[in-house]
Amino acid sequence: MSQEIFSVECPCGSVLTHEEFAALVVEVQAHAKGNHNMDLTVEDIQNMASN
Ligand SMILES: [Zn+2]
Repeated sequence: MSQEIFSVECPCGSVLTHEEFAALVVEVQAHAKGNHNMDLTVEDIQNMASN
């Protein structure tokens, strides 16, 4: 059993992590919208993510 942690580093330097990619997407979208007024797609976030 291995536990995957997904993480995304925003260009502003904030690093967001979550165990579930779907939940991480929600967090990153909220961060981008709230802090940068950016609308990110799931594809954008997949491209930014590392795990
Ligand atoms: Zn940011």
